[in-house]
Amino acid sequence: MSRLEELSDGLGATRARIAAACADAGRPVDDVSLTVVTKFFPASDVRLLARLGVTDVGENRHQEAERKADDCADLGLRWHFIGGLQKNKAAAVARYADVVESLDRPELLPRLARGAAERGRALDVLLQVSLDPPGADHRSGVDPDHLLDLATGVVGQDGLALCGLMAVAPLGEEPAAAFARLARIRERFLVDHPEATVMSAGMSGDLEAAIDAGATHVRVGSAVLGSRPSVQ
Ligand SMILES: *Cc1c(COP(=O)(O)O)cnc(C)c1O
Repeated sequence: MSRLEELSDGLGATRARIAAACADAGRPVDDVSLTVVTKFFPASDVRLLARLGVTDVGENRHQEAERKADDCADLGLRWHFIGGLQKNKAAAVARYADVVESLDRPELLPRLARGAAERGRALDVLLQVSLDPPGADHRSGVDPDHLLDLATGVVGQDGLALCGLMAVAPLGEEPAAAFARLARIRERFLVDHPEATVMSAGMSGDLEAAIDAGATHVRVGSAVLGSRPSVQ
């Protein structure tokens, strides 16, 4: 089987899962957008995915993402940065990313805005919310108690557009329970930020639970591209 056929199969199966999950949740299928997470896979795969109709790709490591976005600049794709953001890399990320999904602290705001300004356009941002159980140390994402403060910071920063929330279900818990928490957090958040409707949640292993909880964007890697190399 050629790589194009492999990717076409993975993509078809993933789109079918999304459609089935939307049907189960009583939602129209065009409610949910697919971002294909291409981390650890070569630019040649990104090119094939674009041929297969993929419009949005996700990356989580700055250097790799920067190189691939540059290699694939002719494809007109939307690049989502979904990884941990280092302070000294934030401006550089904002120069090629179209969406930063993993904003989790206020110190990044002026840096992201500077990178966006250098590229001459506003940067879409999602706030990554920690779904760690209460009392945990919230390693990835902002503590839900600090979410509204962070949102206020984004709104007050020229050059950034607040679009919604992103989350990853923590290990060791049913994804459905974690995504139900996210749905409640989002309901509260939308009262203050009604335009920020994006809910990016759900990956290869749990996209059905995320769609059931209201996800508008799923981020799928291995179900489309195969398993990532274990040595990173
Ligand atoms: C890698 C990654 C994904 C995709 O994971 P798969 O299990 O391969 O679908 C989604 N979201 C984030 C934040 C990731 O880092």
